[in-house]
Amino acid sequence: MFGSEVVPFLLLVFLGVSMAIIYHGENTRVVDLTFAMNASTVYWPGSPDFNFTILNRQEIGNHWYEANYFSTAEHGGTHLDAPAHFSKGKWRTHEIPVERLVGPGVIIDVRSKATANHDYRVHIPDIEVWESKYGNIPQGAIVLMNSGWTKRYPDKSLVFNSENTTDPETFHFPAFHEDAVKWLIQHRNISIVGVDTPSLDYGQTKTFPVHQLLGANNIIGLENVAYLDKVPEHSAIIFAGVTKLYDGSGGPARVIAIYTIDSSNYNTLITISIITSIITVVLSLLIFRFCRLG
Ligand SMILES: [Zn+2]
Repeated sequence: MFGSEVVPFLLLVFLGVSMAIIYHGENTRVVDLTFAMNASTVYWPGSPDFNFTILNRQEIGNHWYEANYFSTAEHGGTHLDAPAHFSKGKWRTHEIPVERLVGPGVIIDVRSKATANHDYRVHIPDIEVWESKYGNIPQGAIVLMNSGWTKRYPDKSLVFNSENTTDPETFHFPAFHEDAVKWLIQHRNISIVGVDTPSLDYGQTKTFPVHQLLGANNIIGLENVAYLDKVPEHSAIIFAGVTKLYDGSGGPARVIAIYTIDSSNYNTLITISIITSIITVVLSLLIFRFCRLG
C-alpha cells in the first residue's frame, strides 16, 4: 500500500520541480530604453522648452483627481525621426507601418572607441565585428549604436560635449558614418538605425548625410536611446513606441527591449529537467515494486 501512494506523490514532486525549472528557463526580461520626459529633457538648439502644467491635482468630492497639460518639440529626449524629417514626401510619423517599429535588436558596442575619440563614427568594420560574432544582421533589424553616452544624459554640456550648448558647430559626440549606413541599406534589410547620442550624424557634421540617407530610403531613426548596457548585443526584440502624431516628422518614443535568458543556459535547464524526470520515474518504479514485494 505504501508504494502505490508514494509513486503519484513523487511524480507530482517531479512535475513541480521540472515546471519550476522550465519556467525559470523561459524567464523574460523587459528593459526600458527611454529617458523620462521633464524639464531636463535635452532638445536640439532652437527647440522650445518642455512644458508640463498641472491642471488638476486635488480632492474633488469623494475622490482624488489629477490631470496635466504638456507640450514638447518632436526631436527631444528619447525620440524617433520619421523619414520625412530629412526627405520630402517620405513617411511622416502617423504613416510609418507599425511592423517597422518592432524588430530584432543589433547593438553595436563602440564604447571604448567613443571614449578615446568623441567624434567617432560607427564604420563598416564595426558591423563586421558584430556579424562575425552573431551572423548576418537579421531582416527588419533595429541597429543601435552603444557609445556609452547614456551616463552623460541629461547634462546638456556632457551630451553635446560642448561648453556652448546652443552652437552645434562646437558639438562633439559619436554617431554613424554614412558609409556604414549605405552598406546597411545596400546589403541588409533593416527597419531602424538608432544612437544613444542626440543625433544620427556625429556632432561635427555640416551636411547630415546619415539623416538624408535614412530618410531617402524610408528608414526610421532613433536618438538618445537610453541604457543600452542593459540589453544583450543580439537576441533582444526592440519596440519603438512612438506617439502616433498626425503629419509629424518624428516624436517622443517609449523604446523597450524584450529578451529571454541565453539559450545555452535554457538548454542546460531542459537537460537537467529531463534527467531528473527519468531518475524520478525509475526510483518510483523501484519503490513501487519493492513495496509490492514487501
Ligand atoms: Zn530627431
